[in-house]
Amino acid sequence: MKKASKQRIDYVHSGVIVRSQRKTLAICIKPDGTLEIRAPLNLSAAAVEQFVASKSNWIELKRAQIAERQLAAPRETPLPLFSPGELECAACELIKLWEMRLGVAASFVGWRAMTSRWGSCTPRTRRIRLNTALEYCPRECLEYVIVHELAHLREANHSMRFWAAVAEALPDYKARQAKLSDLQWILRRPISSQ
Ligand SMILES: [Zn+2]
Repeated sequence: MKKASKQRIDYVHSGVIVRSQRKTLAICIKPDGTLEIRAPLNLSAAAVEQFVASKSNWIELKRAQIAERQLAAPRETPLPLFSPGELECAACELIKLWEMRLGVAASFVGWRAMTSRWGSCTPRTRRIRLNTALEYCPRECLEYVIVHELAHLREANHSMRFWAAVAEALPDYKARQAKLSDLQWILRRPISSQ
């Protein structure tokens, strides 16, 4: 058996080139959307890249299909990270803290099961609404949502100034956002099974 070699590529799409004693090129899309390009030992990198580029429409289509299937796949709703009452308490504390730090005050904070967002704010009435599904999110995500909505009392839109205020309050807010988007599917879970 001849050895197969692996080489990382970051051309149009991230992935690896796996070279072996084969005669043709093949592209395999992994469940995470990265590519594995199986290539003959002596084919130039440029030729491989050209081949991948020529298949980019097909790759994008397949990736979209994989993403759709993953969204559609039924997943177990995780156990809540907050016990009943605890979420409201934690939120209440965080709201007090961040109202003080940001120099703003909400007129009303309500809870609701929402299917597309974790929180909302109406700057005109200074009302904030939080998603009851935050009980499935770690505390740092709850804090991010609260800071985000309270920051809208300073800047109504997602302007540069808005994001600068969020970044100043929570320098790691992007990591918290990423965690939340990983949990976004929870918002669309079937509620009936609860
Ligand atoms: Zn916002």
